[in-house]
Amino acid sequence: MNDNQTNEIRRRRRVRRTLLVVLLLCVAAVVLFGVLPPKFDREANAVVDAGPYLASPRADSLNARLTIVDLHSDQLLWNRPTEVRADRGQVDLPRLEEGNVALEVFSAVTKSPFGQNTYSNAGDSDRITALVILQRWPVRTWGSLTERALYQAEKLGRAARASNGRLRVIQSRSDLDTLLADRAAGVNVTGGLLAIEGLHAMEGSIDGYERLVNAGYRMMSITHFFDTELGGSAHGRVKGGLTDLGRETIGRMLEDGIVIDVAHVSPKSIDDILGMATAPVVASHTGVDGTCPSPRNLSDEQIDGIAATGGVIGIGFWDAAVCGTDPADIARAMRYVADRVGVEHVAVGSDYDGSVVTGFDVSGMALLTEALVNEGFADDEIGLIMGDNAIRVLRSVLK
Ligand SMILES: [Zn+2]
Repeated sequence: MNDNQTNEIRRRRRVRRTLLVVLLLCVAAVVLFGVLPPKFDREANAVVDAGPYLASPRADSLNARLTIVDLHSDQLLWNRPTEVRADRGQVDLPRLEEGNVALEVFSAVTKSPFGQNTYSNAGDSDRITALVILQRWPVRTWGSLTERALYQAEKLGRAARASNGRLRVIQSRSDLDTLLADRAAGVNVTGGLLAIEGLHAMEGSIDGYERLVNAGYRMMSITHFFDTELGGSAHGRVKGGLTDLGRETIGRMLEDGIVIDVAHVSPKSIDDILGMATAPVVASHTGVDGTCPSPRNLSDEQIDGIAATGGVIGIGFWDAAVCGTDPADIARAMRYVADRVGVEHVAVGSDYDGSVVTGFDVSGMALLTEALVNEGFADDEIGLIMGDNAIRVLRSVLK
């Protein structure tokens, strides 16, 4: 074999090796970007019963007459167009319509720590960054929590524009009144209201808060799973009270007509917020110690405090909130709050698509209506719980 032939063999080997590396990179990219995020979504947001859901004819017909509001869903975190039916997860427009939901609150998650747990989390790690990159969100969202929230607001806006009028973003009291009037007139339209889960999304500045308000966010909690510059999380390290920035921001929310949400907030900060509240406060998605004791769930005194503001407690659908995933478990927690402070302070706060397993997806909302019937609530009380109470609070807070 002469030198030329040897070189040619070497060259071919090199080309083959390069092609193999490129092929492996392509396979890795497909797995990383195309397979992993949907797989993670499917597993994180699973349902025990995939439906179709069969409620009693009485519950079905009552459910069809209700104005239903769900105070918390994290659907915007996932790469599923809201207006299109997905084969995974718990919320999308077609399923909201099947469940007869009038208004869904779409909450933006922007940061959550590795090893996330109920008891103690530091804020120095973030697994949402990996999800954001793997889901191929714009580069501007990779290093900015505010941009992640702005992008999620854009997603809801895009879904509304693509929905042929079936999905409408609600930002004001008059938007809400028009939505309800249109629905009463038989128009097939569902509302979406933007919420922030943890004001770390304002990145430590009132300017950041204003950007979120300008993007349409109308419900906000100061913390998610870790303490922030504003105050303590129920799952943080220190779990402290409101900081100066926290007080300033809560003051601005009261002025601006933004609904204050105390879900995930530490007991000390909840006390501080309730002390400042001049408008109804909500716990958008929670359980109560009375039926399911946990640091994540509300004590009797916190229930009393929220009710004293005229606010509502949105009962969640997942195991750690109500100690089960049966509609009856949700109804039992609702009964507990109603018995303690009155039925006008009970609401629905599923936490759909919030990385929780639920008993049924949003198309099965009639199952909850049925469980409330079985719990002995009268039809008008069920109307209050399923949405009228939440509407009352939104109408009184939104401008
Ligand atoms: Zn949450």
